[in-house]
Amino acid sequence: MSGIRIKNLRKSFGTYTALHGIDLQVPNGTLLALLGPSGCGKSTTLQLLAGFEAPTEGEIWADDVLLSSARGVLPPEKRGISLVFQNYAVWPHKTVAENVAFGLAIRRLPKAEIAERLDRTLRTVRLEALRDRYPSELSGGQQQRVALARALAVEPRILLLDEPLSNLDAHLREEMRFEIRQVHDLLGLTTVYVTHDQSEALVTADRIAVMKSGHLQQLGSPEDIFERPSNAFVATFIGANNELAGTSEGNGAIRVGGHVLTAPDRSGAAHGGTVSLCVRPSQVRLFGADQAPDAEGCNVLSGTVQRSAYLGEYRDVLVDLGSGRTLRAFIPPAQSFAPGSVVTALLPIGSCQILGPAA
Ligand code: ATP
Repeated sequence: MSGIRIKNLRKSFGTYTALHGIDLQVPNGTLLALLGPSGCGKSTTLQLLAGFEAPTEGEIWADDVLLSSARGVLPPEKRGISLVFQNYAVWPHKTVAENVAFGLAIRRLPKAEIAERLDRTLRTVRLEALRDRYPSELSGGQQQRVALARALAVEPRILLLDEPLSNLDAHLREEMRFEIRQVHDLLGLTTVYVTHDQSEALVTADRIAVMKSGHLQQLGSPEDIFERPSNAFVATFIGANNELAGTSEGNGAIRVGGHVLTAPDRSGAAHGGTVSLCVRPSQVRLFGADQAPDAEGCNVLSGTVQRSAYLGEYRDVLVDLGSGRTLRAFIPPAQSFAPGSVVTALLPIGSCQILGPAA
């Protein structure tokens, strides 16, 4: 197993720059999720890690071995890296066992070792009972487990997963997240997992790297990323979020339209700089016009309910604040406001953050 160090990684395709100098560390044995919207450079980073592409600038290291730089690239087969793609591409004419053992056979390992590793790997991904089936006799999730087993059987130093669950239906995807995490806990393999799905990243990863337009926005634990996002892009990309754009008034204050609101300021912006007040909908409380709530320690806004949806565990209410601004609130299901109702919204100051724009 190896830790990965990515230093100032830059990749251009002609005049287009897909990665603008990424720095990342993946400590030995950790699972890092590369998360971001389509086109942010996740797959490019993975291709560079696998050795299919050469960097324009920068370096990739596995412990003290230089894998890639602009001067040269260690070929994929010499990196000790296994890659699992989203289209799991298992061989249809081979059984589960034959698929998994294939990589071992071409390495000319002794028969007894192949048998032992095969058994161990099938056990890890819980496919022992299906070892003699053909892929057409398996579900999508089981086929993806075959692909994962094939990648694990060769005992790589590093495992790369490129959107491995995106071909599965929603229910299976949810189940497989936990399985991938379980396999990781069992083997402790240094893993880089590319996904655009934030809940997949939150469930599976030890650390998450959030990317946008070829720039790293934040690297941190799932808790860091959710609770202490480095900017408004990260806050909005992970979980539901309200982002009220405004200008910094300094000293933990932001001007949003005609209001000055206060919150812990993590933007680093100067007075007059572009910032946003971010608050999760689950933290917003709503009161009817006939109520007089205690607003101590809260920012107070008022507006008109635009729509309200009942979601069983809560109601998702959209409030029109005027001037093109809206606020989303997740309120207890027993509370209900008809569209058009005038409401007061309380935003607890401790749950609000003033954040800057994306890097
Ligand atoms: P997705 O989630 O849609 O797969 P991604 O984050 O993985 O997106 P990449 O595939 O890494 O994004 O692409 C990053 C940017 O680089 C995109 O704008 C893409 O069009 C561009 N790009 C990727 N490969 C090439 C290439 N071979 N030639 C030119 N541009 C490319």
